[in-house]
Amino acid sequence: MLLKNGKALQINEDGIVFNHIDIRIDGQIIHETGSMLIPHKNEEYIDLCGDIVLPGMVNSHYHSYTNIIRGTSWGEPLEIWSSDTVNLGGVLGGEDMELSVALGICEMLRSGVTACVDHLPHLKTAHNAAEVYSKSGFRAGLAPMLHNIRDCDFLHGMKNESSGQETKKYFPSIEEYLSFYDDFIRHFHSPEGTLKVIIGINSPQRADAELLEASSYMSDKYGLSVHCHLLETRWQQMSSDNNSIIGKLDSFGLLKTNTSLAHCIWLNEREMDIVAQRRSMVVSNPASNLFLGSGIFPAHEYLKRDIPIALGSDGSNCGTNHNMLEILRLFLLMQRNNQNDYRLWIDSMTAYAMVTKNGSNVLNFPVPSGFIETGYAADLAIADKNSVLGITDLSLMNELIFHTPAVKMKHVLVNGRFLMKDSKITAIDEDALRNELSERKSYLAKSINKALVKASSEKQVYRPAYEILFQKSE
Ligand SMILES: [Zn+2]
Repeated sequence: MLLKNGKALQINEDGIVFNHIDIRIDGQIIHETGSMLIPHKNEEYIDLCGDIVLPGMVNSHYHSYTNIIRGTSWGEPLEIWSSDTVNLGGVLGGEDMELSVALGICEMLRSGVTACVDHLPHLKTAHNAAEVYSKSGFRAGLAPMLHNIRDCDFLHGMKNESSGQETKKYFPSIEEYLSFYDDFIRHFHSPEGTLKVIIGINSPQRADAELLEASSYMSDKYGLSVHCHLLETRWQQMSSDNNSIIGKLDSFGLLKTNTSLAHCIWLNEREMDIVAQRRSMVVSNPASNLFLGSGIFPAHEYLKRDIPIALGSDGSNCGTNHNMLEILRLFLLMQRNNQNDYRLWIDSMTAYAMVTKNGSNVLNFPVPSGFIETGYAADLAIADKNSVLGITDLSLMNELIFHTPAVKMKHVLVNGRFLMKDSKITAIDEDALRNELSERKSYLAKSINKALVKASSEKQVYRPAYEILFQKSE
């Protein structure tokens, strides 16, 4: 297939430039780029007429089950708010999950996102999620969650009376996790295609030694990347001894080059040094962090240690959307507000890499994406040239990041295949999706309200400790 007359975002020695080029795609890969490429006999040929070609963006931390419960929460600190999301997630069945995954894919495609890391908390619906991704052709790293310790069992200041034995009944056993992963990998792990399985530890504080050992074993056995939440809140940090959380991951061999750590707001200097030594990656989620009041991600501390930063949107019920240019904009604005020395403000190349190249490294497919160059995966987002002014290359770059809502994506390709063409999503039947959603609305409303009532009583367990720790001392 030949895409003619695109204006493609590329990198040269001066930084980001937009070149008028043709792009030849062979199968799933960009075969060549250049000017005046001649179509081969019988080759499909599309004239882009100057539309803007971008590398597809990656959402490196995301929970698909939350799309269908978007708007259910006004927001509270994470440990209190978690009761909402845990109970809401718990009432969703297989069909709800399928709709929720499809909603997320549509939202991401419309904003030029071509891949995600989906951290899936519910093993019972993980197969439903995987089937929807598989049918759609959207690229995803599926990270079913591994956890067997509740927040109330490790958070400092909680008066928890449950025994370890009692806690265990909320979670699958080690054997059940192992057999789930074996089966899930057999069905869906296909790195040569668009799906791969990732070891999805919830967080090191929410997993015991036996489960981390099992996680490490599976990661080594199948060569899988590792993804987990890490020190998202101050309460989590106060509940860990110095370096113990990073040390815990490291002692099981889970801190490695293909490990990505979501949030990482509250690591100390020593912990960041260990992440740098192990060449692991961090994933910031600015919208979610602001919504839950979790804190400010110390970007400069990671950048000065050469730790790659990718970005994620987290869950829809954290006041976020899944437009990664919008997430990038928020990230940059927050960092400027947090960095008085403007010479250290993040430059456009570093910023853009967070939603392209670094996201591709988090996913770690054999053929990387993130550049419009020969040999890279043909994951492309093509924006309507009429939705931007594009007076100069520099102004176009700035428009894409800081004037995101105006940017309209026209076509999206994943692995060389159109999943959106002429603004119509071809990967998913959006009309059928809307109909199914409207049919399920009254059923969903009932189960959501029931879950919120249950959550509201569970929150009472966390509120007193939170208030003693943070409100009375400040
Ligand atoms: Zn998350």
